[in-house]
Amino acid sequence: MYKSKGITVWLTGLSGAGKTTIAELVCQELKNSGLACYVADGDTLRSGISSNLGFSRQDRFEHVRRAAEVAVLFSKNDYVVLVPVITPYTEMHDWLRKRHEEDNLAFVEVYVATSLGDCESRDPKGLYKLARGGSLEHFTGIDDVYEKPVSPDLILDTARNTPEQCAKSVISFLYTRYIKTN
Ligand code: ADP
Repeated sequence: MYKSKGITVWLTGLSGAGKTTIAELVCQELKNSGLACYVADGDTLRSGISSNLGFSRQDRFEHVRRAAEVAVLFSKNDYVVLVPVITPYTEMHDWLRKRHEEDNLAFVEVYVATSLGDCESRDPKGLYKLARGGSLEHFTGIDDVYEKPVSPDLILDTARNTPEQCAKSVISFLYTRYIKTN
């Protein structure tokens, strides 16, 4: 049994994988059902709480740590908090689970499994083009590593499913395992 009704839903995957798109759809749907929900988006955090951080290994760890502490605060207050952040290293995945266990909070790791090729052809923010052109350094998938999660709770195949179908899988998973309806 968990300490609060809150759940951290951590979405990891390459840039352009669909993490934010899916997180926003899930959040909207849960809000429509009357649940408290918040999307702690990596890009948004980077423009504020993590604005002094870059993309070195050390800074990426610190960014993930800050995002996790934001998630913990919301989760402790009964929010379903969705965190779309690249989260490229196995060590981070392990730490995140431990951090939530420490406070007895529900933690769900969702791997948004979009191939580099698909992300690059979508290139929603034009970042792959910049990275390939050499104007962006330490770009995950290009000149920085992405270590796939070893044991994610849920894997979303965005090549075979629409954003709405992916969001539905997340919601079904949450209702089956965590959200009580009575
Ligand atoms: P991320 O947050 O992972 O960087 P975004 O959600 O910002 O990625 O961008 C993903 C892009 O891919 C969006 O333009 C979205 O419409 C598109 N897309 C295409 N198919 C899917 C899918 N099945 N799931 C999620 N996004 C998809």
